[in-house]
Amino acid sequence: MKKCVKVIGGGLAGSEAAWQIAERGIDVQLFEMRPGKQTGAHRTGDLAELVCSNSLGSKLPDRASGVLMSELRELNSLLLRIAEEQALPAGGALAVDRDSFGGMVTEQVTQHPRIEIIRKEVDQLPEGVVIVSSGPLTSERLSQDIARFTGEEHLYFFDALSPIVEADSIDMSVAFRASRYGRGQMEDGDYINCPFTKQEYEDFIDALLKADRIPLREFEITIREGVRAGLNKYFEACLPVEVIAERGRDALAYGPMRPVGLTDPRTGKRPYAVVQLRQDNLIASLYNLVGFQTNLTYESQLRVFRLIPGLKSAEFIRYGQMHRNTFINSPNLLHPSLQSRFRSDLFFAGQITGVEGYLGNIATGLLSGWNVSRFVEGKDLIVLPESTMLGSLCSYISSSDPGSFQPMKANFGILPPLGDGVRRNRRDRARAYADRSFRMLSEYLKTYK
Ligand SMILES: Cc1cc2nc3c(=O)[nH]c(=O)nc-3n(C[C@H](O)[C@H](O)[C@H](O)COP(=O)(O)OP(=O)(O)OC[C@H]3O[C@@H](n4cnc5c(N)ncnc54)[C@H](O)[C@@H]3O)c2cc1C
Repeated sequence: MKKCVKVIGGGLAGSEAAWQIAERGIDVQLFEMRPGKQTGAHRTGDLAELVCSNSLGSKLPDRASGVLMSELRELNSLLLRIAEEQALPAGGALAVDRDSFGGMVTEQVTQHPRIEIIRKEVDQLPEGVVIVSSGPLTSERLSQDIARFTGEEHLYFFDALSPIVEADSIDMSVAFRASRYGRGQMEDGDYINCPFTKQEYEDFIDALLKADRIPLREFEITIREGVRAGLNKYFEACLPVEVIAERGRDALAYGPMRPVGLTDPRTGKRPYAVVQLRQDNLIASLYNLVGFQTNLTYESQLRVFRLIPGLKSAEFIRYGQMHRNTFINSPNLLHPSLQSRFRSDLFFAGQITGVEGYLGNIATGLLSGWNVSRFVEGKDLIVLPESTMLGSLCSYISSSDPGSFQPMKANFGILPPLGDGVRRNRRDRARAYADRSFRMLSEYLKTYK
């Protein structure tokens, strides 16, 4: 019997995946529950609807999203081609009219003779060859079934992310390395500590309390209030810093900013308060602000968090966020090919794997489509070189520490170091990463073809 692949969710990842599979001569059933059942963030029944911003990111070749864009171009992505055809004037960014974009993707995917679109909610993982690309707002019933498959502890419903900064941009003449009570693994301390005087702390709290916040949407308020059984504990454990500060001006100094066990080597004293930064990737190019989940607008985060001593010129590669986000603990569950470790005919793609951002979701959709096709044809699965942006994203989600796994978007910090010993400025380094990714992908594609 002829194999047919089932793709669950006609969002960014699922639409790209379905088209890639169909182009390889394999039949696809694409299940999409909208417009009959909406997610709370989508508005239409279009495939690949952009839920928020209409920008797919910077297209400049020396930016992380620009690198991923050129990889997607090279890999013949349908959604990137449509976005580029529909592009609006937006300086260095690739922005689209969201309705034309969704409309065009719907048209192209619907017209493909090998794709059947089924407008229905899938409530359990089907048998056969399947890609799950149901996104951050996967329906309740399917989430429960995925949780049964992964184990409850490996499916998360809620994201409370702390900001991440580039290590190079931390001012180490102000910050210092140390572990609380000297208990760390590294000799000079596991954490970078940003020390506050009392006055600096007071100014920081004033700015934090006055800063603008992102209004919570209905489905996020539901989570916040713990209406969904069992989610209260997640919320209490990840209160946003601005909410902690509202409980009392010193609440942060006794909470995530407590200075106990730390001595500033420059003053020989314990600071009044401290923000600790923890290494976020293997090569120590990224650090996250420990316990700094926040719901401030990105603009406010930049302004307020740059008041933290040592972070005046910090480059934020991810801002703090709080929103509903269904994602699996990929390091325990997925291979870098996006195939499940526990069921060989099951693949995951898109935001549910822990890859963030429109482009990353399109890209994992594309790779899952290629790999599912190869799986059906009995061929080896593709694992892209880690020095490509897509390869490094897949490597990140499948091999990070499962105990602290958090979603990640394309950025230079997850790529392997250049290893040429040359000290370059940020721009030159970005260009070198971009050149290397392009070279490695072209070489890889030659052998693959
Ligand atoms: C509120 C919000 C705002 C965001 N804003 C941005 C942004 O501005 N920029 C950015 O880069 N990223 C943003 N993201 C993150 C992410 O890039 C997008 O969510 C992106 O659309 C994810 O792509 P996806 O294909 O994984 O999921 P989606 O595009 O959400 O597609 C999943 C599809 O699966 C369908 N579905 C769900 N459950 C079922 C089921 N049981 N049966 C059948 N169909 C089902 C859904 O209806 C949906 O169409 C945002 C996320 C959220 C939640």
